[in-house]
Amino acid sequence: MPDSSIDRELLIKKASELLRSGATMLAETCPICHSPLFKLKSGEVVCPIHGRVMLVKSEEEVSKASVESVLTELEKAIAMKLGGYINMLKSDREVDYEEIRNLISWLDALERIEKIKLVIRKSSEVAVQRKGKEQR
Ligand SMILES: [Zn+2]
Repeated sequence: MPDSSIDRELLIKKASELLRSGATMLAETCPICHSPLFKLKSGEVVCPIHGRVMLVKSEEEVSKASVESVLTELEKAIAMKLGGYINMLKSDREVDYEEIRNLISWLDALERIEKIKLVIRKSSEVAVQRKGKEQR
């Protein structure tokens, strides 16, 4: 909802000026006054009242980023675990089947993490493309 302290008339006037200049209205709103934001031909995003604003990442993007960072941490932890297997395999003692199975499980886990990361990246690329189409 637009802030009541914002001059509606000024907002409409500025917004129509922006539209006339070839700017497109975005789905995002100004973080300060919640007016709709406009994208200029130059690619700059502006609020009709506040001028240039920084677009805050959507909640979905933020949560995707945090999932990705957790996955990256997991990967690091698994890589360290896998490092332990190097010594085991290099040593002369007999490697038991159980240990090999564990090793394979860790490798499977790594593979799954990679797959999930890929899906997350792909889905955010699609979201960006969709957004781009809406703006046209
Ligand atoms: Zn604003």
